[in-house]
Amino acid sequence: MYEVDHFINGSFVPASCGTRLSRENPATGAPLRAIARGGAADVAKAADAAQRAFESWGCTPASERSRILLAIASGLDARLDELALLESEDTGKPLSLARSLDIPRAAANFRFFATAILHEASASFLTERPARALNYVLRKPLGTVGCISPWNLPLYLFTWKIAPALAAGNCVIAKPSELTPTTAAVLCDIARNAGLPAGVLNVVHGLGAEAGQAIVDCPSVRAVSFTGGTATGRRIAGRCGERLIPASLELGGKNAAIVCEDADLALAVPEIARSAFLNQGEICLCSSRILVHRTRMKEFTERFIAAARALTVGDPLAAESDLGCLISKAHREKVLAAIERGVSDGGVVATGGGIPRHLPARVAGGAFLEPTVLLGVPQSSACVQEETFGPVVTVHGFDRHRDAVTMANGTRYGLAASIWTRDLARAHRIAARLDVGTAWINCWMLRDLRVPFGGVRDSGIGREGGNEALRFFSDVSNVCVSLGEAL
Ligand code: NDP
Repeated sequence: MYEVDHFINGSFVPASCGTRLSRENPATGAPLRAIARGGAADVAKAADAAQRAFESWGCTPASERSRILLAIASGLDARLDELALLESEDTGKPLSLARSLDIPRAAANFRFFATAILHEASASFLTERPARALNYVLRKPLGTVGCISPWNLPLYLFTWKIAPALAAGNCVIAKPSELTPTTAAVLCDIARNAGLPAGVLNVVHGLGAEAGQAIVDCPSVRAVSFTGGTATGRRIAGRCGERLIPASLELGGKNAAIVCEDADLALAVPEIARSAFLNQGEICLCSSRILVHRTRMKEFTERFIAAARALTVGDPLAAESDLGCLISKAHREKVLAAIERGVSDGGVVATGGGIPRHLPARVAGGAFLEPTVLLGVPQSSACVQEETFGPVVTVHGFDRHRDAVTMANGTRYGLAASIWTRDLARAHRIAARLDVGTAWINCWMLRDLRVPFGGVRDSGIGREGGNEALRFFSDVSNVCVSLGEAL
């Protein structure tokens, strides 16, 4: 059992209330973590520490901030094995995935923003009338900011917020999901060893309704960056609206993969299978609706079902496991209910749909679920309309590309989509009409950290990534200098 404490003012401390939340290993059911249960009193301590630290961190030169953030990135690299194991234990994801995706990306997030701040430029405007003046734009950190992240890609998404917030010169009060708090705690240790001053990064663990809400309500928090479910995001946006502070919201998705009549199926089938089932389908960007031109439906479906059946669901620590287990049995129940809904609305389970048999004894009672493909589910079904966040896809036929666009845009979400075709002009026409934050053509989850990232409609407000994140975590002032009379 690993005890996870808050990190406030550079020290690990238990919760003020003295209580802990317990977390089981989702794959084995064994007791795993005892987590400090934070609330308003802990957030108030973190806020005091952050405000004091900001007096010097807020005016620390970018080169020095950059040096410390690069040292954090190196610290993450150096503890890759330990972090990957903790991430796999907390989430149930394959250890190999945590090693190859989650932890390297966390280090990349720090490296990216550490170097981005070295290349900042600011706008200036030469005014001629009614008098000569030079206007220049000053970018300044906000002060203390709140960062709240979910359980599916714990350290990856936690650092995607914290790295730009710190790089821009802010102090942070952050809360990871209480289901997956452990790598955030190790990050604090790494940050302290890298020389990050006390109080600059504070992590308060606990439940969303307690610790999370207290961060959003904290009077000195000047902005909130949130990634999580749409319902939670809506609540946080409402509160930030009342407080007149900005909120960046990265929320759920119900992403379509559009397979055109000329798609290269040798490329599309394995990549769409990856997009549907990577991380057990627990990525906001996962494809969950596959729209296939009717002329290719039979061929695509046969090949896709075979690809889903070829995936190994098993012990997250075993090298051969393609999928581990879901985050909890309660979440598996929700995913199973979505499958049942699809069937009761007229769909058919073509493969999967149940709990895998023949699991190794160590994980026999874990929250595992087979990769699942449903055919014939009507567009109106909740199984097609609502985010499932599990290894489940529905496949639908279309006749005209404009129908595919209508279907792709036919849910309340608008996070991402992928288009599979050899005709790039057609791909562009489709991409331009999709109501999404990201469209991939003949690829999926190919991420360049410089590009804006986010969703539209119920998938969120605001953009992360590159300059967008640095802009969110800073304020601008204009300075106007009179230049007097011309010579
Ligand atoms: P939740 O919305 O339940 O929780 C996200 C975070 O918010 C957690 O740390 C949670 O704490 C906290 N929280 C919950 N209630 C409040 C509150 N009232 N005030 C402040 N904080 C609160 O999402 P999940 O953790 O279940 O994550 C899955 C969701 O995240 C999916 O919908 C997925 O699509 C979305 N997501 C979106 C991404 C994007 O970039 N668009 C990327 C990845 C995931 P706790 O867990 O302790 O309750």
